[in-house]
Amino acid sequence: MVYCLLPITGRSERGVSSRALCRTPMVETIENRGLKMLNHIAVVGGSLAGLRTVEALRREGFEGRITVIGAEDELPYDRPPLSKQFLVDDWEEEKLALARNGVEELKADWMVGCAAESLDVEAKRLKLADGTHVEADAIVLGTGARPLRLPFGEGLEGVLALRNLADARRLRGAIANAPRVVVVGAGFIGMEVAASCRQKGLDVSVVESLPAPLIRGLGSRLGERVAKRHREEGIVFHLGVTIDGFEGEGQVTGVTLSGGETLPAELVIVGIGATPATEWLEGAGLEIDDGVLCDATGSTGHEGIYALGDCARWLNARYPERPRFEHWTSAVEQSNVVAQRIMHSETEAFAPVPYVWTDQFNLRIAIAGEIQEGDEMHVCLGSIEEDRFLALFGREGRLAAAVGFKRPRQLNGMRRKMAEGEGISFADAVAEHAES
Ligand SMILES: Cc1cc2nc3c(=O)[nH]c(=O)nc-3n(C[C@H](O)[C@H](O)[C@H](O)COP(=O)(O)OP(=O)(O)OC[C@H]3O[C@@H](n4cnc5c(N)ncnc54)[C@H](O)[C@@H]3O)c2cc1C
Repeated sequence: MVYCLLPITGRSERGVSSRALCRTPMVETIENRGLKMLNHIAVVGGSLAGLRTVEALRREGFEGRITVIGAEDELPYDRPPLSKQFLVDDWEEEKLALARNGVEELKADWMVGCAAESLDVEAKRLKLADGTHVEADAIVLGTGARPLRLPFGEGLEGVLALRNLADARRLRGAIANAPRVVVVGAGFIGMEVAASCRQKGLDVSVVESLPAPLIRGLGSRLGERVAKRHREEGIVFHLGVTIDGFEGEGQVTGVTLSGGETLPAELVIVGIGATPATEWLEGAGLEIDDGVLCDATGSTGHEGIYALGDCARWLNARYPERPRFEHWTSAVEQSNVVAQRIMHSETEAFAPVPYVWTDQFNLRIAIAGEIQEGDEMHVCLGSIEEDRFLALFGREGRLAAAVGFKRPRQLNGMRRKMAEGEGISFADAVAEHAES
């Protein structure tokens, strides 16, 4: 079957505006020199990146066979509520479903509960855990990430991490029975889970090796502000401290800090980051270095093999160090690009400004760009004290990042400006909000 390729239809989701962000030059591809023969596309990873890729392929006019191979026993569900509404408001699982009108209308074969074990890039052939093989004309890798583990606590009851629905079910059950929780790691997930546990009435302590929470996402000043809000709610922080081990036999009873102090706890939640789920690709011949290395359109450099979402690191003209964004919006935006790359005769290099949000207590925070210690900060449209403002971060004269505390519209406006061409100067961004 030969597919003639159709124009792009734009879509809008939280923080997403794929068309507006694609303004960098075309990438020359093998595929774009002519029409392709595509009968069958396999997508590995049946979650956000995988589902949105299938949706985008169908939107782009692909009518052939699609097989989705997903390790989890679930159809695609949304992860962000797992650390928030699923714990605090006891959301029904049905509310997590990601497919807007069910997966049926996508007319794809969903293989759930079946992990891919290896990939032959030349033959475009996958070996699955049940011993079967799937061969396709193009393969999209969206296997996400898995939580990093501590070198101790393995097998101890009450020591949990949060990445998937099965983890969230366990955590919800544990929260109902544990009066005291220690959260290890004060990144986004750790801080969200800490807030959720506190809202469920638990005594919550947070242990973090850095001097403030959320430093990597928000910088120390705003991270400290979020900590203040948590403290007002009764959460206790142990900052600049590492942990030496866990107490308890069979069931955790406490956490020992590097200074010798022990924090009693029936529940420990480890949120120290995640690593890309790419070990099954070892030996496949792909370039892997903290994620599958891809060009600015998701191609791995092996014809017909693409990667996206949390498991991939794309080239990005704005960020020479090629960061791996573990953000919901990145996975969605990249899915549009990969579908275009597979289907269209022309593909634009993607150079997005990253976007991530977090909800903790009544703080709704969104971040565009990347903050570094040493960035100049200018606060406008409110004040830090009232927890409603826009903070602009300047580096080398450019607007490097913006943070909105309950300022979603203005934050999205700044993100758009940062994504236009060379971006916007810090002085212009500040001047734009001078009256506020
Ligand atoms: C608790 C939580 C809260 C979050 N909150 C936010 C938020 O507020 N804002 C935000 O921007 N981002 C948030 N994120 C991040 C966001 O959810 C991720 O960036 C997004 O899910 C990435 O999508 P993905 O499809 O690349 O990976 P995933 O969603 O991790 O999906 C990958 C899928 O691939 C499967 N898989 C792995 N290996 C294999 C294999 N070998 N074979 C087959 N299948 C495989 C996995 O089981 C999984 O189902 C949150 C993440 C978590 C875990």
